[in-house]
Amino acid sequence: MEVARESALQPRAEPHCRACGAPGRPIFSKRGFLFAQCDSCHCRFVVGDLPALVYDEGYFDGDSFGGYPAYLDDRDLIVENFARRVRWLAPHARGGRLLDVGAAYGLLVEAASREGFDAVGLEPAGGCVEWARTESGLEMVHGTVEGATIEPASFDVVTLMDVIEHVVDPGVALRRIRRWLRPGGLVVIETGDFQALLARVCGRRWYYYDPPQHLTYFSAPSLETLLEASGFGPPVAVGHLGRAVSLRNFSFQLGRSLGDGVWGNTFRRLAGSRLGSFTFNVPDRGNVVTVAARATRGG
Ligand SMILES: [Zn+2]
Repeated sequence: MEVARESALQPRAEPHCRACGAPGRPIFSKRGFLFAQCDSCHCRFVVGDLPALVYDEGYFDGDSFGGYPAYLDDRDLIVENFARRVRWLAPHARGGRLLDVGAAYGLLVEAASREGFDAVGLEPAGGCVEWARTESGLEMVHGTVEGATIEPASFDVVTLMDVIEHVVDPGVALRRIRRWLRPGGLVVIETGDFQALLARVCGRRWYYYDPPQHLTYFSAPSLETLLEASGFGPPVAVGHLGRAVSLRNFSFQLGRSLGDGVWGNTFRRLAGSRLGSFTFNVPDRGNVVTVAARATRGG
């Protein structure tokens, strides 16, 4: 089964980068998917035309293939992680109108509102949009980064937290976002860093290498290259901000990485146990990178 899938994904010609279109070279296979590294922007990507996933609230409540189950059980923790990011980006923002792309239940919108921003969320999962409107009274737009109608030059800050790796064509998405920003507006992207400690230790087993939900993988330099190619200036800030995580989410992700064996099942059981609410901090430089850059041209 694995062999059949892999051969179906073998490119007839050399693979081409999802982010910039330049040729790349194969680096490894995992779960039947072929991974390559771009020779030009140096991001890593899954080879082949994978169908776009439909993100609904199942992604966040454990009904789907992966995602982040029991997301709302970690609500306070996630809001505080986001508040830390909002305080980090705030000195670079030239105005208070903020759009969070892939906003889920609006927890970054909630954190940004508390920090004084006039914040809006953009989210494809209708159930999440409804929940954020009714439970938190937030302004939410239902849609995708590829399809949403957003007024040009109407935002000072656009954030994408754990989102860019899901997008089928990240270059197209960033060029759309650049048009939504006012001149000098700030885009802030946080994603897994394949040069960080955890990825180096885990190699291809790194949980972020997770198609079909994650399609493109970055380091700080490859993200900067893509941003410059998409109408943004050099980064005004690069952060390794760490984050607090629950044992519930950590064990779930580890259990998925380990598969159906004894250890995978053990960690999945741990995720569902009372110990799941225990939290700890992933150190700075451990796993993710956050990059902020300005739009060099407005809407
Ligand atoms: Zn590239």
